[in-house]
Amino acid sequence: MHQGGCECHSVRYQLTGEPLTCYACHCTDCQTSSGSAFTLSMIVNSENVEVLEGELAINLQDTNGVEVKRHHCAQCGTALWYSADAYPDILALKPGTFDDTRWFRPIAHLWLRSAQPWIVLDEESSKYQKQPEMLELFALWERGRSA
Ligand SMILES: [Zn+2]
Ligand SMILES: [Zn+2]
Repeated sequence: MHQGGCECHSVRYQLTGEPLTCYACHCTDCQTSSGSAFTLSMIVNSENVEVLEGELAINLQDTNGVEVKRHHCAQCGTALWYSADAYPDILALKPGTFDDTRWFRPIAHLWLRSAQPWIVLDEESSKYQKQPEMLELFALWERGRSA
């Protein structure tokens, strides 16, 4: 079980069970929405995430034709996870919001064709110029766990 929360500490949540995968995305949408060079996403089963306290608010955004809900702290705006009605069983959690971030690492880097030129990647992670199949990312995570 892993707990996390937003920057102002009003929202607290916990994750139970195993994540399905965790990756870094270097696409231009992620660079813009985060104001950074890439984002981290951890795909988890929706039923494994529980809000312990605080109030979440939702923004709607259109990502490549898919309506995505950005769940964030109603007080400070920290993004905690994204969901899409098209995929009701999973969430894309923002794993930098965990209290302890040492237990996971991204197994893949996506959209490297738009990555910043100064990014240096580790050797082990899988590297994609564009968007791979999500099932491939699930398999990579599973392989990493059994290695
Ligand atoms: Zn907050
Ligand atoms: Zn992205």
